[in-house]
Amino acid sequence: MGAGDSAVRVRLAPSPTGTLHIGTARTAVFNWLFARHQGGQFLLRIEDTDKERSKPEFTENILSGLKWLGLQWDGEPVIQSERIAAHRAAIQQLLDSGHAYRCYATEQELAAMREQQAAAKQAPRYDNRHRDLSPEQEAAFVAEGRQATVRFRIDDGASIGWTDLVRGEMRWAGSDLGGDMVVARRAPADQIGDPLYNLVVVVDDAAMAITHVIRGEDHIANTAKQLLLYGALGAQAPVFAHTPLILNQEGKKLSKRDGVTSISDFQAMGYTAEALVNYMTLLGWSPPEGMDERFSLEQAANAFGFERVNRAGARFDWDKLNWLNGQVLKEQGPAVLLEQLLPLWQAKGWELDKADNQWQADLCELIGPSMTLLADGVAQAEPFFSCPPLNEAAQVQLESEGAKPVLVALLALLPPGELGSEQAQKLLTEAATSAGVKKGVVMKSLRAALLGSLQGPDLLATWLLLHRLGQDRARIERCL
Ligand code: GLU
Repeated sequence: MGAGDSAVRVRLAPSPTGTLHIGTARTAVFNWLFARHQGGQFLLRIEDTDKERSKPEFTENILSGLKWLGLQWDGEPVIQSERIAAHRAAIQQLLDSGHAYRCYATEQELAAMREQQAAAKQAPRYDNRHRDLSPEQEAAFVAEGRQATVRFRIDDGASIGWTDLVRGEMRWAGSDLGGDMVVARRAPADQIGDPLYNLVVVVDDAAMAITHVIRGEDHIANTAKQLLLYGALGAQAPVFAHTPLILNQEGKKLSKRDGVTSISDFQAMGYTAEALVNYMTLLGWSPPEGMDERFSLEQAANAFGFERVNRAGARFDWDKLNWLNGQVLKEQGPAVLLEQLLPLWQAKGWELDKADNQWQADLCELIGPSMTLLADGVAQAEPFFSCPPLNEAAQVQLESEGAKPVLVALLALLPPGELGSEQAQKLLTEAATSAGVKKGVVMKSLRAALLGSLQGPDLLATWLLLHRLGQDRARIERCL
């Protein structure tokens, strides 16, 4: 099925009160995968009604983050703040039908009520005190100059159920929802104040004809409230899927305190979009038998379904993300890697000969397999742009028995012109024989001299590349 062929319509509804968070991005992934799997539409709604905390730069960050991840949405994003007239009309409808009423309780009265509840060790809830005011009582409050919120009736006896695509049969008691719910903020009694989250989400999801709401399980109690609103507004409720939370190493909900949580931070650290979306898909979804853990978004979309989404929270695993990123870097091949590394090398101020970048492509081929992050391509390339100092392990190696005679022998054998792979192999054997040491000593000593370290990529290829750059002789000589 192609995009748009089915009736499925899902949405991501981020609030632009911060940068694109990994939890929101993972919700986006599941929505995108489900829409693509079903041949449906993936819509975007920017929930910018919190005027103080919403910022255009956050919207920008969210949109560019989604694009970078490859999670393109269908159509133009809906801007929630532009729909306030529809939100107010729905509240008026609830008032007219008796599903909502004005509550004149002041902040002080509500605070006193909560204090009493706390003292009596009761859960905090609104006690529905203004649910059935007489017209005279209302008039008296208005005459006092009191402002009013609009509250939606939630009957304690109500039983709210739905079949969740992840969690199965769900049931909530009306008495567990905290009493009649505020749907519009305080305003003069002849007006309707700012509409609140649960109301606007229902109005917008209904207007956008959303068929499936896929979001984090921290919204489960909201779902119960929203189902009551769908009923009261006479709108068709969507199907719900509540995805497990992302947990930190301690098993707690991943939060800002855990450090890196913004997609732009992961990007800046050198993670690829491919690895990140792959990893986020695995945060809660298990691929079917026989499918690899390394997959593209397209492959995941083909296989995706909620029957393989776990209920338990998903622990964030850096090792797996790093492994996936390494896989992606390897698959990309040296040409793509070079494109990504060039700007990073340039930023380091390294001299890049534009006319001859073949050796740079060869360098990418050499270091690619041992890279985890793009940033590793800077550290690992550095010894090819400038002569590295000798670290401690390299110094110890160069002081050890046989090391100097080996380097002297190598220098004597080193041809001035080109050096091929077979010839280089032969030189290593000859140097070992003439210095009377094992070949391992030759390899370790040469590595120490060339890279200033005992770690690094394949030695023979490293040597050949440095020889091409005319760098090997001087580096060996400095150790003698
Ligand atoms: N703006 C809400 C959030 O970011 C949307 C929740 C929902 O999907 O309904 O949590």
